[in-house]
Amino acid sequence: MSNLQQTLSIIKPDAVERSLENEIKEMFKSKGFSILKEKKIQIEKFEAEKFYKVHETKAFYNDLCAYLSSGPILVMVLEKENAVLENRKLMGATNPKDAENGTIREKYGISIEKNSVHGSDSVENAKIEIDFFFKD
Ligand code: UDP
Ligand code: MG
Repeated sequence: MSNLQQTLSIIKPDAVERSLENEIKEMFKSKGFSILKEKKIQIEKFEAEKFYKVHETKAFYNDLCAYLSSGPILVMVLEKENAVLENRKLMGATNPKDAENGTIREKYGISIEKNSVHGSDSVENAKIEIDFFFKD
């Protein structure tokens, strides 16, 4: 049965800063993802705090929100069969040191914080996150 899904991807400041957007977009396209929407923006810290609210009690929350708002990001809506899980697989583990060979974070991640990409972790959160950035 077909299970076409959309998910939110963000190319984070560490990767935009190193001009890795096109290489990362090619990785998505070569795995069969369609990029339905994309925009390059810089968000304010309070917006990063809202986006990452689920992590507000974590020790890394403040630094994470400062980092996500520290420079331009590329936000994208990706579409593919089982896009949420397929994107998580292509991204690799949160800590680039633990990420499997061939994943985006293994190739480009700098640290557990500066790990180059964000991806929604469930279909429900994908809808919320797509709305967060693309609801007009
Ligand atoms: N993060 C961090 N330190 C940690 C765990 C996470 O700085 O110990 C950052 C990292 O940028 C990560 C983001 O917080 O991508 C969100 O964490 P999550 O556990 O949701 O990881 P993800 O879903 O991005 O793999
Ligand atoms: Mg997460």
